[in-house]
Formats: sequence, C-alpha cells, structure tokens
Amino acid sequence: MRWSNAFIPTLRDDPADAEAVSHRLLVRGGFIRQLMSGSYSLLPLGMRVATKVSTIIREEMDRIGGQEFSLPVVHPGEVWKKTGRWDDVEGILVKFKDRKGADLLLAMTHEEVFTLLATELHSYKELPQTWYHLQTKFRDEPRPKAGLLRVREFVMKDSYSFDIDAAGLDVQFENHRGAYLAIFRRLGLDAIPVHASSGVMGGTESVEFVVASPAGEDDVARCPNGDYAANVERAVSEVVPEVDEPWEGRPERVATPGIRTIAALAEAHDFATPQRQIKTLVYVVDGEPTLILLRGDHELMEQKLVDGLGTQHVRPAHADEIREALGADPGSLGAVGVTALPIIADPALDGRSNMTTGANEDDWHLRGVDVARDVAVGRWLDLRRVRAGEPCPVCGAPLVVERAIEVGHIFKLETTYSRKLGATVLDAEGEEVPLQMGSYGIGVGRNVAAVVEVHHDDKGISWPVAVAPYEVVITTLKVDDHATMAAAEGLYERMRAAGLDVLLDDRDERPGVKFNDAELIGIPYRVTVGPRGLADGVVELTVRATGETTTVARDDAASELASLVGSAR
Ligand SMILES: [Zn+2]
Repeated sequence: MRWSNAFIPTLRDDPADAEAVSHRLLVRGGFIRQLMSGSYSLLPLGMRVATKVSTIIREEMDRIGGQEFSLPVVHPGEVWKKTGRWDDVEGILVKFKDRKGADLLLAMTHEEVFTLLATELHSYKELPQTWYHLQTKFRDEPRPKAGLLRVREFVMKDSYSFDIDAAGLDVQFENHRGAYLAIFRRLGLDAIPVHASSGVMGGTESVEFVVASPAGEDDVARCPNGDYAANVERAVSEVVPEVDEPWEGRPERVATPGIRTIAALAEAHDFATPQRQIKTLVYVVDGEPTLILLRGDHELMEQKLVDGLGTQHVRPAHADEIREALGADPGSLGAVGVTALPIIADPALDGRSNMTTGANEDDWHLRGVDVARDVAVGRWLDLRRVRAGEPCPVCGAPLVVERAIEVGHIFKLETTYSRKLGATVLDAEGEEVPLQMGSYGIGVGRNVAAVVEVHHDDKGISWPVAVAPYEVVITTLKVDDHATMAAAEGLYERMRAAGLDVLLDDRDERPGVKFNDAELIGIPYRVTVGPRGLADGVVELTVRATGETTTVARDDAASELASLVGSAR
C-alpha cells in the first residue's frame, strides 16, 4: 500500500475522553473511530490488525480440531427463555420485537444456539465435537469505556465443546487452555491463567486469562511463587488466626453515641479493634432480607455471594428495608438474637469470641459476643475480598494483588445447557445422556487493545510483527528526487514479492512528520531511503521496538527484511 492512497487519519492530539493508553493510541493512530458509546468502527489499519489476530485464533482453534461456523446475531427470545437467560438481571441483553410481535434479542453469546445445533448429534460415536465462530456480539454495558477494552459491540471467537462424559470435557478444557496460551504467546501477550467466577454463564470450573496492566478492570491475586492465581472475585487466602481475650458471661451493652463505622468504634474503644468486630450487612437475596457477617476489617466480595448462593438476584438492602428488618440504621446493626432472618457468615468469624457488634439499636453496641453461642449462623460461605500481603493458600507467601485485563475466559458448562435444550446422545450402553459442554471465549478487539497496552512507548504503538498492520514501512526522504523514488519503488516491489506487508510512505511531507507517523502507528521495521545514503549504496533500517538504526546495502535490504520479518512472525 502507498501511504498517499491509504486512509490513515492520524491525529496530532490525544482524544479528550481517552484515559487508557490503547484507547488514546488507537484513535490517534487512525485505527478506530467511535460511533457511539461502546461502539467503534475499525478503520483499515485497525481492520488489518484485527484480521491478523483473528487468523491466529483460527489457526490455533483448527489445531485442536475446531470446526468453524457462522451463527446469526439476532436470536428468537424463545430459546433464551428455555435456558432462563431471557430474564437478564444485569440488563445487558438488547431485546426487541419483529413485525409480527415475536420476541427477539441481539446475542451477547451463543451457548443457546450452538446447543440447539447440537441436538442433531445422536450418538457418542459422533463425539467429541469442537465448534466455533467469530461473530459480532452486543451487550448493553452500563459503563462502556477505555476504547476497545470495554465496549458494547464486539467481535468474539466463541467455541463450544461437546463430549459424552466429564473426562472428555476435561480433555477439551485442557486443549483450549493450551490453544489460548499459544494464541496469547503469538500475540505478544504474557497471559496467565487464573481461577475465575463463572458468573452469568453458569457451570462449574472457569479459568480466565489475564494480562497485568493498569488499564485492566479486574484485580488478580497471585502468588509470587507461581503456585496460585485467581481473580479476586473468587480468590482465597489464609486467615492469620486471632487470639480472643477471655470474656465471662453474656454480651454487654455499650453506649456508642454517634458511632456509625468500624473505624470510629475501634478509635473509641480499645476492645473493639476492627479484627475484633463483626461487620453486619443486609442484602436482599431472591427478595428476602439476609444478614451477611464479616470480620470488621474484611470487605465483602459481592460476586462470591452471587456464586455461593447460585442466584443473580442479590443486592444491598435499601435504608428503609434495613430499618424494617432490624429496627436500626447501618452503623448499629448486629445479628445477636436475630432468628427471623437468614444469616450467612464468613469463616473468618468461625469460633471467635469476645467480639463487638451493633445492638440493633442506634447508638448502642454489644461486646463479649461469642459467635457460636450468640449468633444463629445458618450458612458459612467464603465472602471475603482477598488483600495484598495475605498468605497464599498453597504456600503461605504474601499474595500480590494487581490490575489485569481479561483477554480470554474458558468455562466448564457441563450439562447446564444441554439439559435445558434437550441436547442428548446415546452412550455406549444405549442410554440417553445430556452432552457435557464447555464454552470458550476470546474477544478480538479486547486483545488488539491489550497488545497496545503492553507494546507501546511515548512515541506510539510498537506492534509485535505477528499482528502489525504492516511489517515494514519504507520512508522516502525526498519525493521530488527521481533516484530516491525509483530506489524506494524498487524495494517496495521486491519486498511485496517476498510476501512482506509493506507500506510505502510516498507522501510529500517533511521527514519528521513521516517518522512520527510511522512511530505512532507502530510499524516494526522502517527502511529509510534518501539521496545521501543511496550515493553510498545504502538505506537505513530502524527497529521500532528498540529505536536501533543500522545501514544496509540497498541491494540486500529486501532479503534482509524478509528474513527479519520471517523469523519474528
Ligand atoms: Zn504460593
């Protein structure tokens, strides 16, 4: 491609609304343009990168036996009603009606329709099957932001595996784990697999692949020894045991006028350090007010509540609901003597005594509370948000908690969808059994953005060769010099013939402008052609990632670049 004919609308300034590096550089470099919130057009450079990312994904999916499909984006509501996902509590499904009044939706994922197709499988002899497609999805995200990192419309590769039994599903899950690691390696992403919450997908085990980055939206707890990594949505750590001081007899009322927080109570009374308080929260679970208890210094991880209870219908209670349930306002709540409401407690409270908690009367607390004796805990559930520095559950080393971008997610769905949609086959004994399913996703645009988050500097993007929109840019220093242009054209033709993706910067611009643009859009290799070098029979070769410049004999340049690019692809 000749730059003079290309549509590469680079901008001098950063877009005003962009915080994430990838958002800023992809807009400035002319890769993407926003149409509306969470919705982007890919311009030619962006499309070239996305195509290369998609090709890598396809190659690795095909390597594990994947077969490519293409399923519709608009689905009948009926099939989503059968799996219970039509009543979408997150409100991210876009639903509408057709001219006949039938319910339709814009698909945000394709479990339902792939499972429907799998009802055409009849025998264990046809298994395993691995099906995938790359398709547009739409999720009406409440807070789209950060360019391609968090969008409403996006292209995702989603694959689905179908097996006769759990052992088969395990194999497919491991195959996908391997394929995903291979994909991220080829994209230049140092992705690590972490235990994750399955959230709205259902099923049991799920593994997320994350890339550490301040632009991420997930927090990951990781052991520096490499033996444990999990999204904080489900991460666990060891609790350092507290030694409770003795307390004789029943709990005692303590006047605590105006005290409404754990910190204020700890400040006012030596016996009430945060570790020795019970934090009482009120949630509404499936319409029922429920008490949630944690140690005073611990924070609730709401996703653990959702996952542990197996319902999406979980929300903090409103002020009036709390007063009606307990007769006091937040800051004076407690579970001592409460029998009318379900009580769920975090195990860090198990066996604790001489604790302090609210008395369910404004301005009063209770001290000397023995959890086993005084609180009717109905269920123990790990609910605590893991903090940096807490001991690794495997080896005890202090955990690191860091921001990360989720670049892929794989789920064991087991029979959740096949049962609901009647996708069964006959096993070797002639018994009809539901298919064991897995579901596996990688967002194309999210990964494009993640690559930029990792591969950039203050001059712009620095694409890994494997996904660069062009591998080489030939920059001409003097477009009105016939010899320069003839030499550049000659190199351009030879490199194209060698199979390189080459951009010829033949624009009538100052060299400084051309260099800046080439650096901004991140082409891995720049060959600079000018009259002075040509007089000595050489051109300059600059490596984008290192900034290193060397001279190369003009006649060797094409073969040298072909070998450099070939080994880096
Ligand atoms: Zn460890």
